[in-house]
Amino acid sequence: MTKCIIIVGGGYVGVQLAKALDDKAEVTLIEPHSHFVHAPAMIRAVVDPQVLDQALIPYDDLLKNGKVLRARAESIDAAGVTLEDGTEVLGDYIVVATGSNNAIPFKPATDSIKAFRADSARIHAMLEAAQSVAIVGAGAVGTELAGEIAHFMPDKKVTLISSEPSLFPTMPSKLGTALQAKLNDAGVTTIFGARAENLESTTEPYAGELQLSKGDSITADLIFPAIGSRATSTILETLPGITKGAANRVKTDPWLRPSDLPNVFAAGDVAESGDAMTIVAVSRQTPWLEKMLTSLINGKKVEDMAKYKPWGKAPFLVPLGPQKGSSYLVLFTAGDAITRLMKGKDLFVSKYRKMLNRT
Ligand SMILES: Cc1cc2nc3c(=O)[nH]c(=O)nc-3n(C[C@H](O)[C@H](O)[C@H](O)COP(=O)(O)OP(=O)(O)OC[C@H]3O[C@@H](n4cnc5c(N)ncnc54)[C@H](O)[C@@H]3O)c2cc1C
Repeated sequence: MTKCIIIVGGGYVGVQLAKALDDKAEVTLIEPHSHFVHAPAMIRAVVDPQVLDQALIPYDDLLKNGKVLRARAESIDAAGVTLEDGTEVLGDYIVVATGSNNAIPFKPATDSIKAFRADSARIHAMLEAAQSVAIVGAGAVGTELAGEIAHFMPDKKVTLISSEPSLFPTMPSKLGTALQAKLNDAGVTTIFGARAENLESTTEPYAGELQLSKGDSITADLIFPAIGSRATSTILETLPGITKGAANRVKTDPWLRPSDLPNVFAAGDVAESGDAMTIVAVSRQTPWLEKMLTSLINGKKVEDMAKYKPWGKAPFLVPLGPQKGSSYLVLFTAGDAITRLMKGKDLFVSKYRKMLNRT
């Protein structure tokens, strides 16, 4: 008999896995948004909102056999998933891929894509009117945002503030040094080893004054909080045997199971599997899950399957606008040309449009 697989969350894990299993099982993908939100392009959309037309991709054409259920999952048990309206969806295997939250305009604040577009347009207008911009947090999102603003709006005074001693201190130093030099050349002021003590909002940009832990203060017409993602793990919290890790993620066993329920799996940002919270990590987890679930459908047991191995040294690409950037590609650190070709130019928009069967 055909097995039923429920995937909760239509982000990078959900979309790729649902598509891969569409002709192998009865797939139900549960996702409240009408469109897939391609996160890397949301940074450029702050400076160029037209990017949203391509990078918000409807789910309508994703599956040929299975279905995308436009709904929010409320709870999970071994038998299936209960939706917010009380409907029960029954399944043999459940994959939880509810991802993570971030500030607007990087990720939607509600289930409405229309509201997300309006937020993005509002923040773009605030940015256009601003003369000075402060970005709090110099992870990939903050650093890329500084680069995008410097490229597309060179007249703005941009300050990037980090509590770390340098850019990307856990990566080979060549990467951070090169990126910092490119940002500084483009007119971005970088401040390291300073915490913003009075961040008024972690969920949306605002105008105001930042008190820094070093004692000084910065006034900016627009302050972007870019202090990292937090996993959306609420629906997993009540399962037996759950343990939380950093950033609200749930810990998984070597077969990506977060709880005592043997048929419930978790992947992507919500799962602390040993991987970083990146699409790059998802690109390794999803084929593994596809293979494992295909074997389960064919009668194998989870424990007979090879364990998932997290990606220790994964590639890391940081464009600074469409022309410049630097990338850690494991064997070497690449500069502008390769970063532009691999990511900066198109931000993988075509790849994900193709994945969702949109051209
Ligand atoms: C601005 C930005 C830029 C980024 N750029 C890069 C990059 O260039 N390269 C890279 O490797 N990584 C990047 N990342 C990280 C990357 O976006 C995440 O690692 C990735 O989105 C994780 O995929 P996911 O499938 O786990 O979750 P997500 O993509 O977060 O998707 C989760 C989905 O689950 C849905 N959901 C949540 N709760 C429920 C529920 N209760 N019921 C049903 N559905 C639910 C959400 O609506 C969402 O669609 C970026 C992140 C941000 C914020």
